Amino acid sequence: MLHLPIYLDNNATTPMDPRVLEAMIPFFTKYFGNAASSSHSLGWEAEEAVEKAREQVAELINAEPNEIVFTSSATESDNLALKGIFEMYAAKGNHFITVKTEHKAVLDSCEHLAKLGAEITFLPVKKDGLIDLTQLENSIKPSTILICVMYANNETGVLQPTRDISAIAKKHGVLFFSDATQAVGKIPVDVILDGIDLMAFSAHKMHGPKGVGALYVRRKNPRVRITAQIDGGGHERGIRSGTLNVPGIVGFGKACELCRIEMQNDSQKTQILRDKLENELLKIKGAQVNGNRQQRLPNVSNMSFKNINAADLMGNLSGKIALSSGSACTSATHQPSFVLKALGLGDERALSSLRFGLGRFTTEEEIDYTISELAKFLMPKSANEVNK
Ligand code: PLP
Repeated sequence: MLHLPIYLDNNATTPMDPRVLEAMIPFFTKYFGNAASSSHSLGWEAEEAVEKAREQVAELINAEPNEIVFTSSATESDNLALKGIFEMYAAKGNHFITVKTEHKAVLDSCEHLAKLGAEITFLPVKKDGLIDLTQLENSIKPSTILICVMYANNETGVLQPTRDISAIAKKHGVLFFSDATQAVGKIPVDVILDGIDLMAFSAHKMHGPKGVGALYVRRKNPRVRITAQIDGGGHERGIRSGTLNVPGIVGFGKACELCRIEMQNDSQKTQILRDKLENELLKIKGAQVNGNRQQRLPNVSNMSFKNINAADLMGNLSGKIALSSGSACTSATHQPSFVLKALGLGDERALSSLRFGLGRFTTEEEIDYTISELAKFLMPKSANEVNK
């Protein structure tokens, strides 16, 4: 039985896994203590649950539990990493290297820092969405303190060459921060093998709850230090004060545990469904996939269609299929996506683009329905032009 609308906007957020909700519920009512209350059992129980979750989160990315700082979102983690590094390493330098296709949480934080005296290099990307590694290395100067390149793009799913980037950063003694919000839980992310020094991600992109995120901060080889951006009671080892969101953190831990166990199966399944959807839609004349098709997340496809306005198309499909034309942050404005424009797409092409984001609960029946509904809209205009 199909339940409408079919949800294909899993890059914006994911439905929470019922097993995650089940794990969280006792922490709203029975175990409601403040994890920082050290004088009674309700506090100890809450603290124990937080520490278990910290282990679950750390295990998914091959970190140590004490390298995980809980935050409210990946947006906050991005802000904390960038602003925290800028302040902490001010004596060493003021230059950051990042990329034009980063998430707004990174770009706007960098713009903010530029007003405070940071020098920011925004690298372009090639047509396939990947950065040029030589250009990256040539941009490093003595004042460079951070390279910030996302793991996977939220609009195209394109995976940057993280290990090559970290090797360059290491060679030059520069820290490497990766926003891995779209990657963690979808593909294996290993902060040791990937050579990442700081990494942002959040629970609601991996079938966990909204309102909880994490920042990984490496503690050895090298030991990374950041300046707190929220001061107060000294929670999270003084890096991020504020009473911990215990149910949210418990849910984040459970979501990470489920991803660790089920990610391989989930990814195989979503990739098969994504490829089926993409291959069927590519039969339409003028349809194209945006971004590198090999170095890509298994659950995402960004496609554009000739002579189609994506906003109209989504309007036609509303109630049937929930999807977006790009990131949730910019789709409300109906502006052409800056990410797609950075890949060299013109306004018209960018405005004809749709982002399909599949998830753990996407079924083949839903994909078949999506193909047939989209074909109704897309085929009449190009019925005589179907690629043979
Ligand atoms: N970074 C990337 C790459 C994202 O895709 C998102 C969410 O869309 C964020 C950061 C922000 O995440 P959050 O919603 O947890 O603040």
